[in-house]
Amino acid sequence: MSATQAFTGKVVTRFAPSPTGFLHIGGARTALFNYLFARHHGGEFRLRIEDTDRARSTDAAIAAILDGMTWLDLNWDGEVVYQFSRAARHAEVAHQLLASGHAYRCYATAEELAALREEQRAARQPMRYDGRWRDRTDWPNDQPYVIRLKAPRDGSVTIDDKVQGPVTVNNAELDDFVLLRSDGTPTYMLAVVVDDHDMGVTHVIRGDDHLNNAFRQLALIRALGWPEPVYAHIPLIHGSDGAKLSKRHGALGVDAYRDELGLLPEAVENYLLRLGWGHGDAEIISRDEAIQWFGLEAVGRSPSRFDIKKLENINGHYLRAADDARVVDLIAARVAATLGRDLTPADRGLLQRTMPELKKRASNLNDLANGCLFYLRSRPIPMDEGAIKLLASATPGLLDRARERFAAQADWSAAALEQAARDMAEQAGLKLGQVAQPLRAAVTGSAQSPGLFEVLEVLGKDEVLGRIDDALVG
Ligand code: GLU
Repeated sequence: MSATQAFTGKVVTRFAPSPTGFLHIGGARTALFNYLFARHHGGEFRLRIEDTDRARSTDAAIAAILDGMTWLDLNWDGEVVYQFSRAARHAEVAHQLLASGHAYRCYATAEELAALREEQRAARQPMRYDGRWRDRTDWPNDQPYVIRLKAPRDGSVTIDDKVQGPVTVNNAELDDFVLLRSDGTPTYMLAVVVDDHDMGVTHVIRGDDHLNNAFRQLALIRALGWPEPVYAHIPLIHGSDGAKLSKRHGALGVDAYRDELGLLPEAVENYLLRLGWGHGDAEIISRDEAIQWFGLEAVGRSPSRFDIKKLENINGHYLRAADDARVVDLIAARVAATLGRDLTPADRGLLQRTMPELKKRASNLNDLANGCLFYLRSRPIPMDEGAIKLLASATPGLLDRARERFAAQADWSAAALEQAARDMAEQAGLKLGQVAQPLRAAVTGSAQSPGLFEVLEVLGKDEVLGRIDDALVG
């Protein structure tokens, strides 16, 4: 099979992150595309951790990737492949290429290569290895050598990239790159090719910062006579100013989207999916629809800009659609941290009942966790500035009358309480808001809250009367 032929067998994709300390938001999108493509074709989605940089590949950095994948529910098939553990296999393939004449020993010293680069720089030539050991066999004894690929020198290679379209590079531009270092360790280029092959990868879907590597990797694949994968290089995500996404644009790791921004995984997934891929006007797309619709032909060629507002909007949508008990679980730790105590089963029950109301006003879990605090705080509850103002400007005697009225109230449903408030307003010649706002301030400690009468119902009579008393004293 050549890279230009259509693929007909079983699809195998992979996500191959290098541990950096977190699952990068752009990496998460690459993972998602690979996942969806595999699932769409009834194929396999594999995960390979490219942990050859030993300093960066700490247990914590690897765990962060697995954690992010799990959070996004991007289930991979089979065991995770750890690239470093396969170094012996990589070396074996380098030696196989040496034996078949597709690779050669290069004894050029570091000083020699530095001098070569200097010459090329001075002559304003592209800096690349000149093939000085390509045809030599006068190998010195006991000298360290690297193994280089004997890459084709003439002609050109075209990759029919499924996102970028056909891209051609002259072989003269590609040098005889190193496969195995003199200490016997494989280079990244060799490791990727061998691992992809051994994992049966048929489609390589990754960031377009790897497009240049693809030409070298393809030269290696051809030297090995292995099947060529289909390539799809997707444009990187840019920030709102059009520059490549970086720290100054905001959070990069998906864990920050979960912990700091309080977003739901399905919202992040939906947003990432729409970032660079589309299906008509569809904005809210379920996992099942995504699997059904996903294809590389609808991946855009230009970089997409990350828009946190849009992500928050989508999150608000998913939050309202989410199961209430689940949302209570998701905010429980945040709420407990602010209250300084664990939530009781009664607290959880209360939050679950009121969740449909609370959700209307929230676009993320932080908003929700803050918005529900007034329900759970012990008396006297803190008053914010808006509440203090409302209470100060309330009609004199109003709260006393409301307290009296509510104390005599037998039916404590939201509807009955609303009727009682309306009656009070009428009798006093006030508008409903003039009664409701001071009451809201007294029982919620704020000028904004979910519907007042639902709040009164949920808090219960004793608590409401108690809070009114506190406001009267304060
Ligand atoms: N490990 C590479 C990275 O994190 C990806 C390699 C690949 O997808 O071929 O950028």
